[in-house]
Amino acid sequence: MKIIKFGGKSLENGKGISQTIKIIQRNYQQNTNLAIVVSARGKATDELLHLIALAKKGEDFSAEWADFQTKQNHLSLISLQKYFDEVETLLSGIKLLEECSDKTQDRILAYGEIISVNYLTAQLEKNGIAAKAIDAGDLFLTNDEFGNAAVNFAISEAKTQAYFNSLEPHILPIVTGFIAKNSHGERTTLGRNGSNYSASLLANFLNADLLENYTHVDGIFTGNPDEIHEAIKIEQLSYADAAELAQFGANILHAKTIEPLQQKNIALKILNTFGDDAQTGTLISANPEDKTVRALASLKNKALIHFKGKGLLGKVGVDGRIFKAFQNNNISVGMISQGSSERGIAMVVSEDQAEKAVKSLKQEFKEDIEKGDVDEIFAEKGLGVLAIIGLNLNLFDKPYRSLVRNQITPKLFNNTITGNTICLLLTEKELNKAIQVIHGELFDQPKKVHIAVIGHGLVGKTLIEQILVQRKSILEEKNIDLRIFAIANSQKVLLAVNGVQENWEELKKKIPQNTDIQKYIISFAQQNALENLIMIDNTASENVAKSYALFAENGFDIVSSNKIANTLPYSDYQKFRKILRRNNKKYYYETNVGAGLPLIDTIKLLHLSGENITRIKGVFSGSLSYIFNHYSIENKTFEEVVLEAKEKGYTEPDPREDLSGNDVARKLLILARELKIPSEFEDVQIQNLIPEALKSLPKEEFFERMHEMNPIYQQEKDALQDNEVLRYVGDLQWDNENQTSSLEVKLVKASQASALGQIKGADSIFEIYTESYGDQPLVIQGAGAGAKVTARGVFGDVLRISEILD
Ligand code: ASP
Ligand code: MG
Repeated sequence: MKIIKFGGKSLENGKGISQTIKIIQRNYQQNTNLAIVVSARGKATDELLHLIALAKKGEDFSAEWADFQTKQNHLSLISLQKYFDEVETLLSGIKLLEECSDKTQDRILAYGEIISVNYLTAQLEKNGIAAKAIDAGDLFLTNDEFGNAAVNFAISEAKTQAYFNSLEPHILPIVTGFIAKNSHGERTTLGRNGSNYSASLLANFLNADLLENYTHVDGIFTGNPDEIHEAIKIEQLSYADAAELAQFGANILHAKTIEPLQQKNIALKILNTFGDDAQTGTLISANPEDKTVRALASLKNKALIHFKGKGLLGKVGVDGRIFKAFQNNNISVGMISQGSSERGIAMVVSEDQAEKAVKSLKQEFKEDIEKGDVDEIFAEKGLGVLAIIGLNLNLFDKPYRSLVRNQITPKLFNNTITGNTICLLLTEKELNKAIQVIHGELFDQPKKVHIAVIGHGLVGKTLIEQILVQRKSILEEKNIDLRIFAIANSQKVLLAVNGVQENWEELKKKIPQNTDIQKYIISFAQQNALENLIMIDNTASENVAKSYALFAENGFDIVSSNKIANTLPYSDYQKFRKILRRNNKKYYYETNVGAGLPLIDTIKLLHLSGENITRIKGVFSGSLSYIFNHYSIENKTFEEVVLEAKEKGYTEPDPREDLSGNDVARKLLILARELKIPSEFEDVQIQNLIPEALKSLPKEEFFERMHEMNPIYQQEKDALQDNEVLRYVGDLQWDNENQTSSLEVKLVKASQASALGQIKGADSIFEIYTESYGDQPLVIQGAGAGAKVTARGVFGDVLRISEILD
């Protein structure tokens, strides 16, 4: 035998009811050994409750009441008037008395289901099916707990079997869900959403093989599809896991539904009334094919009751008194936390019971509070519980780490001894983000990395292009989904929750100006619960550099091609690193020195592994590399070579910025600090290549008088031996024995045969001398400037952070 149950949405006017009739017809043709259980149609139960509420306040309910009747009457083939009359009489009585007992409420609510079976039966008869409307009050006997009555199994089973045995064969029984009667023949109900339970009781009493539950969703999902776009439908589920999910308010399953089915090994299938014939739904049985099913469920509107008392240490019976007080006040408790020190206990209750809970404890412990044994009793509201069903603690490390990385720290944490469920208590604000993060981890879905790019000049723009081009293959190869959710410059920020596309520049032109760009980005990330955040700074702005701390404190890792944060006074440099550590955030800046060359990372590793780096020497500046590589061997004036470099885009618009040596000095400082040498910019001895007279001239005048530099550098060139060339180098030396250092930036002569002497074009070179490498330095050489290589280097940092996130 098969039982089929239809929920309220499946019985609604329009598509719902017509689909339901089709489904019943199809099933009836295949197998007449069938019974149907139905809920009230549409939102009838909610509407009746609303009518009762109005009547209780003595308010006029006629408009709502007319509405209710119109909806229920729509295309009805029978008169429903006698039911309407009875409900109206009851409502009028309530309005008169301005009160309504649970008993009366059950009488009224029952009509939702009674109307439903009679309406449907008439529809089926018109379609050629001999059907019979059955009031479950004739089948199920309950106790007197109106609103949430308990069913007497033995008597109900006997009554149900007797009733069904007396039915003529081929008559299709259409049974009300949700309702029953007590031993005095008074109306009772089984609790909200109780029709599922009715159907499973009927299946049990009639020894059915299968219960099909037609809903408005495709089945049970790994999370609420409204909250998680990537939620996956679960094909098969065990009774135990289904029961656990039902407990957490998966509202298509009533908490009590599973038990009667499990008892007689009856399979339950969740199907969609609006789905196609090929749908598979979710099958719940004793032996699901896949035993490792996992799902997330969440409960909102929770409060944590704190109870603290030093004086209670070691006292027996305190917990007993707490729960007694709750019991007396009908307060139900969820998670509980008590450390073994017994100095306090905390309990989760629903938010609307929080005040009552606090009051009842204050009453119970009145004397203890006066004596000072109990210090504090208070409620913390705005919390939610996230349950991870089907996960053992031994697999919880990864999901937990990803929570911490996203700055989510559960207030409470517990696991069930059976049923392997882990529960976390979180603030409601954190709940949504936690659901996304954990769902992604559990189902090994692509890790979303959310990137904010500040600065879209040459480097920034190139980077954005590179990321957009590579996105797909990174997703395929690494299961990492890079999303640029913000692109900003000092005036505007373009925001896109799911990441920008190739047309970002056009879109950005259209948006208005913003102020406080940084805060804007941060609050957008928070509002949209974006996880795995990275901020990329491609500006040369001090203002942006100074906002890194704010970003780190708000959960961002930081990648920067901007050198400023690393060349601020050493105390600021250290302070920022402390903030990073405290917030467990990364800061990568490989491109600060040598653009895309793998320099900083190499030095870091050498230093960390205990290798004593004694010297780093090299050509750190692409522009000065070009100038001296060419000037040393070509028959041109210094001025000619500098202008040539400028034209090729190797120098800044004012070449004095390069010629001053400051840029090289900054890079040298950054390297020194990597070696934990606490230097300041002032510690670097810089040979400024600009003669005093030209230093502070306006740019135009400088260009007019630049030829004055020719004799100075001609002299340098003349002093070279054969096979010697000029190089402008940074030179850092470290004396480990005396713990002293020297930092110099200067023009030197180098043998053409040496590594330094051989570089070409605008290449950079870094010679790293260490104790183990001896006189033969480790050499890193290559293009050390340019938008493409710099962007590529920044991208590399982003990927390194993304991979750590794994
Ligand atoms: N009609 C009842 C309710 O809305 C029972 C059910 O639909 O399952 O709670
Ligand atoms: Mg580099």
